[in-house]
Amino acid sequence: MSEQMQVTRELFDEVMVPNYAPSSIIPVRGKGSRVWDQNDNELIDFAGGIAVNCLGHCHPALVNAVTEQANKIWHLSNVMTNEPALRLAKKLVDATFADQVYFANSGAEANEAALKLARRWALDNYGSDKDQIIAFKQGFHGRTFFTVTVGGQEAYSAGFGPRPGAIDHVDYNDLAAFKALISDKTCAVMIEPLQGEGGLVSPTDEFIKGVRELCTAHNALLIFDEVQTGFGRLGSLYAYMDLGVTPDIMTSAKALGGGFPIGAMLTTKDIAKSLKVGTHGSTYGGNPLACAVGEAVIDVVNTPEVLNGVKEKEAQIRAGFAAINAKYNVFSEVRGKGLLLGAVLNEQYKGRARDFMVASAANGLMALVAGPNIVRFAPSLVIPSEDIVEGLARFEKAVARIVNA
Ligand SMILES: *Cc1c(COP(=O)(O)O)cnc(C)c1O
Repeated sequence: MSEQMQVTRELFDEVMVPNYAPSSIIPVRGKGSRVWDQNDNELIDFAGGIAVNCLGHCHPALVNAVTEQANKIWHLSNVMTNEPALRLAKKLVDATFADQVYFANSGAEANEAALKLARRWALDNYGSDKDQIIAFKQGFHGRTFFTVTVGGQEAYSAGFGPRPGAIDHVDYNDLAAFKALISDKTCAVMIEPLQGEGGLVSPTDEFIKGVRELCTAHNALLIFDEVQTGFGRLGSLYAYMDLGVTPDIMTSAKALGGGFPIGAMLTTKDIAKSLKVGTHGSTYGGNPLACAVGEAVIDVVNTPEVLNGVKEKEAQIRAGFAAINAKYNVFSEVRGKGLLLGAVLNEQYKGRARDFMVASAANGLMALVAGPNIVRFAPSLVIPSEDIVEGLARFEKAVARIVNA
């Protein structure tokens, strides 16, 4: 290999725009659920690249898929289709309610496509008055200007000039408020079937079923943003499958590529009709490399072994949280589902989630936060039991250090 430039964390502040504040640790390689940094310090990965690396690092099936495809053909344009895209689309359609797929490169792009499709569909079928989009406070749908405006944190879309219009927000799990807002002018409702970034909030059964019924009653499209909840994260291939509620449009990304950038929007044939030739597109969407990896991911993840394993690992982590809390009394509750779990800090430690994440890293554990009060874990769906035990032991050390400080 040719001589590479030596780089350090300091270079970040010099050559990167300042929109992120990364840790001082620079990981250089990984294997399964373990990662090593520049100084060969080992970390256990309970972060999974924010719920992305669903099969850990360097999974042989994914390395094989990317290598094999790289040696064949790795980019075309959408002027020609390609085999991996068609195979992945067929597998997604066979596994879900959907009939057709649009490929993008990220969650935000998949959501952007879903929102644009909903507006077109409403225009085609009902005319220009039906343009309202309803979404939920604390929701997160990505960072393009349309998706960030549909997202429920006002601060994220502020400061960029006039926002896209006809977008309204109500509280998650407040069916009465939702019912008061939805009307025949509503074109679509975008919702996460469990709010991820917004604090691991699960929908109540009554709420999610009520949202579906009201969308149907008002001819509004129900869009499930399954970018974080999908692809096995909650223990079923997609979260909707466990909720007994079927959306009209669904988006997928993050774990879909296992760490390779890809996004997908899935819908029925009838709705998809509104995305006629020329209405939307992407240079890289449906890229053969990305789709080859996605295909390898679905082959591994959509199996009873992996999906049932998620439920067992969830129980193991929940037991770990309980044991740590019995000793140190730091959490008020554990939220989430499957391998998207969050410990909510109690009154005494309120606002200090970041401190727990930093202390975890210092003790060899990659963890996440979800807002200022929640320590979030989103490990690989195939993390070995021993790595969970060791990760929890490291987390306990981090907790002890904060409690005894
Ligand atoms: C991460 C996330 C997105 C954005 O995905 P990107 O790939 O970062 O664009 C959208 N929706 C949800 C629910 C997410 O968790």
